[in-house]
Amino acid sequence: MSTPWSIVAADTLDDLLAVMQHNPGCRPLAGGTDLLVQKQLRPLDGEPCVDISRIPELAGISRTSAGDWRIGATTSYSQILADPVLCETFPMLARAAGLTGGWAIQNRGTLGGNLANASPAADSPPALMCYEAELELVGPSGSRQMPLADFFLDYRRTALRPGELIAAILVPARDPRVWHESYTKVGTREAQSIAKLSLAIALHLEDGIVLQAFLAGGALAPTCVRLIECETLLVGARFERALIPRLQDSLQRAIHPIDDLRSNEHYRRRVASALLERALRTAMKGTA
Ligand SMILES: Cc1cc2nc3c(=O)[nH]c(=O)nc-3n(C[C@H](O)[C@H](O)[C@H](O)COP(=O)(O)OP(=O)(O)OC[C@H]3O[C@@H](n4cnc5c(N)ncnc54)[C@H](O)[C@@H]3O)c2cc1C
Repeated sequence: MSTPWSIVAADTLDDLLAVMQHNPGCRPLAGGTDLLVQKQLRPLDGEPCVDISRIPELAGISRTSAGDWRIGATTSYSQILADPVLCETFPMLARAAGLTGGWAIQNRGTLGGNLANASPAADSPPALMCYEAELELVGPSGSRQMPLADFFLDYRRTALRPGELIAAILVPARDPRVWHESYTKVGTREAQSIAKLSLAIALHLEDGIVLQAFLAGGALAPTCVRLIECETLLVGARFERALIPRLQDSLQRAIHPIDDLRSNEHYRRRVASALLERALRTAMKGTA
C-alpha cells in the first residue's frame, strides 16, 4: 500500500516560506503536471507538498518602468498565450508555450514549474536563455537573482537552495523588430509530444552582418545549454550559407546528448546539425 501524501495550502508568501522551512523535503505544487506524474511513479514517497498557486507575489505578468518584464512563476502557458504584447515581444516563448502539451497542460502547467523541474527537454528554457532571462528566487534568507544560464547545474539538478523557490522570471526589454528568431522542436509527432531535441535561435542583423546572436539547445546535453561557440562564430560575420558547416561543427563540439526513453545520443547528434540549418532558415524567414 502506498504512503498517502499531503498537500498544505499557503495564502501568503510568508506562510509559504514558513511551511517550506519547517518541512524539509516539502515540494512546491504549482500546476502539478510534472509533480503528480512523479508522485505516481514513486508512490512510496510521502513528502508533503505545498500549494503555491494562490500566492499573489508568484503570479501575474507585469513590466518595470524601464520596460523589463516580470513573469510570475505560477503564470500558466495559457496566460502567456493570452498576452498579445508579451507574445509579440518574445515570439520564441510564445511558440514554446503553444507547443507545450495540449490545452489542459497549457491551462495548468506553469513557467516556474517547467524551470524548476529542470528537464533537459523542457520547451521554455532554450527560448528564455536566448532572451537572457534571470530568475527571482525567494527563500528563508531573503531574495536573490540569478541568470537562468546558471540555474541548471546538472541533469534535473538546479541551484535552488533548501526552502527556496522561483518567484518570477525576469526578462529584459527588447525590440522584436530587429530580431530574426526561431524555436524549433523535434518530437515523435508534431503536436503534444515532449522534445527529442530543440533549438532556439535569435539573431540581430544589420545590413547582413550579425550584431548579436543567441543560441540554446534542449535535450542536447543533461541540461538546456547555451551554444556560446556558435554565437561567437556568428557575431560580426556576414550571415551566409557558407557559415552553416562551421556552425554545425561547433554545435557538435558543444553538445553532449544523453540516451533516454525518447531518443539516444546518436540520433540527437545527427538531427541536431539538420535542425540547426532548418532553424536558421526559419529565423531568417522571420517566423518564430
Ligand atoms: C501530458 C503532458 C505533456 C507535457 N508536455 C510538455 C511539453 O510539450 N513541453 C514541456 O516542456 N513540458 C511538458 N510537460 C511537462 C509539464 O507540463 C511542464 O514542465 C509544466 O510547465 C510544469 O509546471 P507545473 O506548474 O505543472 O509544475 P509542477 O508539476 O507543479 O511542479 C514541477 C516541479 O517544480 C517544482 N516547482 C513548481 N513550481 C515551483 C517554483 N515556483 N519554485 C520552485 N519549485 C517549483 C515542484 O516542486 C516540482 O518539483 C508535459 C506534461 C504532461 C503531463
